[in-house]
Amino acid sequence: MTRLVTFADGTTVPALGQGTWELGDDPAWRDEEQQALARGIDLGMTLIDTAELYGDGRSERLVGEVVADRRDEVFLVSKVRPENASEMKMMLACEKSLERLGVERLDLYLLHWEGNVPLEETVEAFRDLVDEGMIARWGVSNLDLRAMEQLMEIEGGEDCAANQLLYNLASRGVEFDLLPWMQARDMPMMAYSPLGRGELLEQPLIRDIANRHSASPAQVALAAVLRHDGVIAIPKARSVEHVEANADALEIQFDLEDLERLDEAFRAPNHAVPLDII
Ligand code: NDP
Repeated sequence: MTRLVTFADGTTVPALGQGTWELGDDPAWRDEEQQALARGIDLGMTLIDTAELYGDGRSERLVGEVVADRRDEVFLVSKVRPENASEMKMMLACEKSLERLGVERLDLYLLHWEGNVPLEETVEAFRDLVDEGMIARWGVSNLDLRAMEQLMEIEGGEDCAANQLLYNLASRGVEFDLLPWMQARDMPMMAYSPLGRGELLEQPLIRDIANRHSASPAQVALAAVLRHDGVIAIPKARSVEHVEANADALEIQFDLEDLERLDEAFRAPNHAVPLDII
């Protein structure tokens, strides 16, 4: 089942994409990782998330090899390090990402997290890249509600297409304020570490609900995140088997009992909490 999420500019992407942190780091896994990513694309998980930070460019290179002959099938997201998010440095950083990926343009370029460069300057630098045709759109990552409100005050800030945030069953703070705020602006939320980096998959309740649905714990964790409108999940998997399982996550239809048990075990806060970050 394919579910789509729509950006404010009308562009649609699949709600289930693929993360790539740590892919490309271990040469022994390279072939398997490439096959896994390629299989994910075959199965419709065509949004691929990477970053210049990941393996110091190794992740981008691996992604580049996988998409070399299928650029038009994928929606490529990369991220700029905060120290490169200035007028002076962002263009070069983006050029290097494009080179490693072997593409002419990114579909989405994110500020990895807020550092010392003022957001005003970062927005200007993003706009230059859009003007140059190097990126189709830009967004941010790890920005809390206050920072997002500040961003909206900046000229051009309202063009921010997405915010990538830590979001999984064990970390639901964004549901209280940031997610509704983003939904009201048609700004998709990219949920990173949707499987809690694998730790959630050992939780007895998640395993139990998975068994009830003849599903896997990863599918339950992903389906829980994707219950909400405007959420894109980017699980990382380095085996074809895991990718194939993840691709079927949206087949799960939770019943009321499942939802009550999940909400009881993994409570969403009823007040504002500081943003969780990895
Ligand atoms: P995830 O929550 O996606 O968990 C990854 C772990 O889950 C791996 O150990 C993986 O194992 C395992 N796994 C995946 N699928 C299955 C499955 N079907 N069954 C069993 N185990 C499974 O962790 P990440 O932290 O990697 O988050 C996903 C992506 O989000 C990153 O890769 C990155 O692209 C992005 N991210 C962004 C951040 C930011 O600051 N913007 C911060 C952190 C992540 P295996 O690899 O062996 O398949």
